[in-house]
Amino acid sequence: MHRSPNCGARRNGATPDIIVLHYTAMPDWTAARDWLCNEDAEVSAHYLISPQGEVVQLVDEDKRAWHAGAGAWGGVEDVNSRSIGIELSNDGASPFSAPLMDALETLLPDIMARWSVPPERVIGHSDLAPGRKVDPGPRFDWARLARGGMAIAVDPPDARTVDLPAFLSDLATAGYTASTDPDVLLPALRLRHRQGHEGPIDGWDCAIAAQLAARFPVALEARTS
Ligand SMILES: [Zn+2]
Repeated sequence: MHRSPNCGARRNGATPDIIVLHYTAMPDWTAARDWLCNEDAEVSAHYLISPQGEVVQLVDEDKRAWHAGAGAWGGVEDVNSRSIGIELSNDGASPFSAPLMDALETLLPDIMARWSVPPERVIGHSDLAPGRKVDPGPRFDWARLARGGMAIAVDPPDARTVDLPAFLSDLATAGYTASTDPDVLLPALRLRHRQGHEGPIDGWDCAIAAQLAARFPVALEARTS
């Protein structure tokens, strides 16, 4: 039994409608677990998944865990009050283990059903805190989650002409409201939707952003009870 003291009430009666995926950035998952339960750390998450696929619940889902920090997604600025946080044991450079991915694919549908979280609101820490956070990082298999209906993927048929104002507008519509700096947003977008790609913005980045905005515009209304 491992419970974290690093939590509180969700503010303004909010209920979770976002799921945020993280990596621990620590090689030893039990050290990460103990850190998330140490009040000096002032961080936590609802769940931690070990490389062996063990799911440890650290905070009750109706409580506000401390995992998102500064950032935003769509109209949500207090992401902790509106989300469930899942820490995946990973050092940031290695592949995610098969048992960990299997456990995540078992856990996610339950949480999504319990709180009516749609696939487009299963996001990475890097999505809500671009420029500040990169987890769950370039090795995380977002495509696998998308195939299982637990995240989104887009597949634009053609590149677009590069149009920076349209690119920024599309990203804001798709939820990327924490920054307006293209040098910050472009790497964040690629971590999710064009993994491993580098170099200056091109027409495929713009096409991906446009399709995200067209198919998955974020709801901006508050969700409180
Ligand atoms: Zn994180």
